[in-house]
Amino acid sequence: MRDPYDVLGVGRSATESEIKAAFRRLAAQHHPDRNRDDPEAQVRFKEVNAANQILSDPQKRAAFDRYGEAAFRPGGSGGVDFADFGGLDSIFSDLLGAFGLRTGEGGHVKKTLEVTFEESARGGKKEISYERIDICGGCQGRGAAPGARVDTCSACGGRGRVRYQQAFLPIALERPCSSCRGTGSIPSARCPKCDGAGVARGERTLSIDVPPGIEPGSTRTLNGEGHRLKPHQPPGDLELLIDVAPHPFFRRSGDDVLCRVPVTFTQAALGGEVLVPTLGGKVKLKVPPSSQPGAVLRIRGQGFPHRLRSGAGDQLVELAVEVPEWLSDRAKSLLKELGDELGEDVQPERRSFLEKLKELF
Ligand SMILES: [Zn+2]
Ligand SMILES: [Zn+2]
Repeated sequence: MRDPYDVLGVGRSATESEIKAAFRRLAAQHHPDRNRDDPEAQVRFKEVNAANQILSDPQKRAAFDRYGEAAFRPGGSGGVDFADFGGLDSIFSDLLGAFGLRTGEGGHVKKTLEVTFEESARGGKKEISYERIDICGGCQGRGAAPGARVDTCSACGGRGRVRYQQAFLPIALERPCSSCRGTGSIPSARCPKCDGAGVARGERTLSIDVPPGIEPGSTRTLNGEGHRLKPHQPPGDLELLIDVAPHPFFRRSGDDVLCRVPVTFTQAALGGEVLVPTLGGKVKLKVPPSSQPGAVLRIRGQGFPHRLRSGAGDQLVELAVEVPEWLSDRAKSLLKELGDELGEDVQPERRSFLEKLKELF
């Protein structure tokens, strides 16, 4: 075993954050996925992990400072078999943590599922891919290399667990056997893909049913689609957080769709018809005469489907009366004439869109 301080390249008095930073840097540098052509990388990577396990844990670090590597040999003079405490679980959680993956309690995984505005209204199928730890495909979880002989572990007699005595505690405790990593058997050669762990990282793709009308911020849990941290353990769950991408034209308010549609001064004053996009395609909307800027019109049933009852919300259309940017000489003189005809009468004060909405409910 190499001196963990040398492995991480830090001094004896290194702080917790210095150790963490060194670990992250070296783990990324020697990660086997980044060094596929270099078989030595895996060895260096494990060494970095082992060093971090000792130096990131104050108890283990103190034991190393006091007893050196003897503290980490089974039955070493440190009195406690520290190497067994972390074991595979903590290698994985350190590792995943360093790469921004959280295994969470029991291997639960959290992911965000982004859907479009239209998908959140109509529903549909959505694919999601994520990295997941599961039974190793190279050994089907046995941890043995192909063709390797598998013997019963002599350290635990095949039970996978051993009893141990902790200082100051009068009773013996049980922990997973470190010799066989809790499996109860020892292969003559370890599976090269998972190094005997029986579980490995892989890509998982799922097809998710998005129900119509799904709300942003809602969650869905898929049982058993999280990480399997040990071959004989049930996998954790996958929790999906639904995120709805903003739409350039529509907004959502409850089960209603809100939008803003430009109309000309003439359409607003005389009334008319405008084409309005909805989630179900374009519809003709009647603009009543004397419509004020900011008036809100309702298109029934073009909103989001109600979740708990039948039917759907509405689309609320705010009218934006547009003033022309360019006028011909004839248009100018017509407008001037119109101005003279209308006089200086002040139009009704425009109320805000929100105030209009409040009146509707
Ligand atoms: Zn394997
Ligand atoms: Zn064993």
